[in-house]
Amino acid sequence: MEKLLEWTMHLDNKYYMNVFGKRVPVVFTHGKGIYLFSTEDKKYFDMIGGIAVNSLGHGNPRLVRAISSQARKLIHCSNYYYIESQAELARRLAEISFAEKVFLCNSGAEANECAIKLARGYFYRKGTPRSKIISASRSFHGRTMTTIAATGQSQMQLPFEPLTPGFVHVPYNDISAMIKEADSNTCAIILELIQGESGVFPADLDYIKAVRDICNDTGALLIIDEIQTGVGRTGTFFAYEQYYVTPDVVTLAKGLAGGVPIGAVLATKEAATGFELGDHGSTFGGNPLATAAAIAVLDEIEKKNLIARAKSTGSYLQKKLIKLVENHPLLKEVRGKGLLIGIGLSKPVAREMKQKCFDAGILVGSVGDSSIRLAPPLILTKLQVSFFLKDFEEVLFDMENADAVTVNKDTEVKE
Ligand SMILES: *Cc1c(COP(=O)(O)O)cnc(C)c1O
Repeated sequence: MEKLLEWTMHLDNKYYMNVFGKRVPVVFTHGKGIYLFSTEDKKYFDMIGGIAVNSLGHGNPRLVRAISSQARKLIHCSNYYYIESQAELARRLAEISFAEKVFLCNSGAEANECAIKLARGYFYRKGTPRSKIISASRSFHGRTMTTIAATGQSQMQLPFEPLTPGFVHVPYNDISAMIKEADSNTCAIILELIQGESGVFPADLDYIKAVRDICNDTGALLIIDEIQTGVGRTGTFFAYEQYYVTPDVVTLAKGLAGGVPIGAVLATKEAATGFELGDHGSTFGGNPLATAAAIAVLDEIEKKNLIARAKSTGSYLQKKLIKLVENHPLLKEVRGKGLLIGIGLSKPVAREMKQKCFDAGILVGSVGDSSIRLAPPLILTKLQVSFFLKDFEEVLFDMENADAVTVNKDTEVKE
């Protein structure tokens, strides 16, 4: 089976566009619960969950059953026709949120693209067109031309200019910067409540409340990007529930269908007037297979109480990690909510740490070289957390010992 890994690496290197660079050298063949298994039959503890996608872990029976039985019946039909599971998913999402109207698409970027179009359309349809959209520095909203314009990271934008016009960026958690920028030409403010892709940085409660007030004052729509924070990850179904604000539009994707591609835009009835007949659409969006999968995810979350579990397991994990910070000089701080956790490092060794974790059989993410990100499946248990922490601490000891050796060497040379 080792050949399969080498062969896959060879094909990838030769034929796949080089956007992911050198990947972690592994091919996974299957998974079960919190574990993934490689071609070498090695078992890995999955603490990144496909970057907040595998909300139910791997091989969840309810999800597998829903997908396979739907696949036998009908995988896709056009949006020319009514689709039972699409209508049902829209109802379910509306019933658990502020939203009255839902649109379904296929990814996070597409959901934000749709939300941005909706905001522009909303003011156009009212007869008072507005173009300006404010987002935050270091934000991440996707990889399409418009969502990279919304994204506050210039390295993702520069090669592709000119971008969609109308976007401005302000420092995150800075109320006065937002007050200065928001005006009567602002159609929307788009924000994450925890900036996931830049290292898991939560928004302040006061900041989000103030942004809501600014939106009320200027008439701008508040779009909350919950693509990473949504679907129970932070300990409530939506993270906005912990900020005591009502958004006008929310976007979802990643964990919503447990790994089947999907995106969702949730809106108030008022905001949804931004689209009229023919204004938007999608070939695949909301198709029977993806929506059946999402319904199974919502059912499983409800029946297994996974949001409460994410909350309690998440705070247990964070508490234990904070203890590790006290005992390990390599760790600086722990950030996040529920099961979306960033571990800030005191030295730029996140990539090395990710690799060492991989060698030890645990899968984590790194953000830049200064943070480790954890976004495990919501099914994670406290017992499993203690297994993970034991292996993770071994990695820390190893790296710190290696450090001590280098330091000693240095002093020896000097002497
Ligand atoms: C992942 C992510 C996106 C983009 O989603 P894709 O499915 O990769 O297009 C957008 N916003 C946030 C906050 C994300 O975490």
